[in-house]
Amino acid sequence: MSSETGPTGGCLCGKVRFCLAEPVHEVGVCHCAMCRRWSGGPAFAIECDKEIEFEGEEDIVRYRSSEWAERAFCGACGSNLFYRIVDSGQVILCAGALDDQSGLTMKSQIFIDEKPAWYDFANKTTMMTGEEAFALYAPPKAQGS
Ligand SMILES: [Zn+2]
Ligand SMILES: [Zn+2]
Repeated sequence: MSSETGPTGGCLCGKVRFCLAEPVHEVGVCHCAMCRRWSGGPAFAIECDKEIEFEGEEDIVRYRSSEWAERAFCGACGSNLFYRIVDSGQVILCAGALDDQSGLTMKSQIFIDEKPAWYDFANKTTMMTGEEAFALYAPPKAQGS
C-alpha cells in the first residue's frame, strides 16, 4: 500500500488489509435481524467514502444479501469487512476491522424496533426504527436490509 494517509484496518488473519482516504469518527449500530445473524450481534458500522484501497482483494468474498446490497468478508478467516450498496458503491465498513479505534464515537442506532430485549447500550445516541432509517438512507423501493 503506497498511499497510507488515512486509517488502516484488516481481517483477523491479515490477508485482507485496507486503507481509507479520510479519517472516520462516527459509528452507527444496526440491530436488524440480518445484521445480527451476519455479525453474531448488532453490526457496528462506519459510513465511508468509496476510496478504499484494498490489499488481498482476491480473498474478499461478497455475499449478495439483498437486491441492492452485498456483505463482504475474508474468505480465509471469515472476518466481516463491509456492507456495500451496489448501485452507489457506498461502503459501510465494520468498525471492528479498524486498527485504531480510539477516535470513534457511537453516533446512532438503527432498527431499534428489531433489537432483542436481552441487551441495551448505555451510549447516548440517535435512535431510529427501521422505517425511519430507510426513509433517511435507502432507495425508496428498498425493504428489509
Ligand atoms: Zn482474513
Ligand atoms: Zn442491519
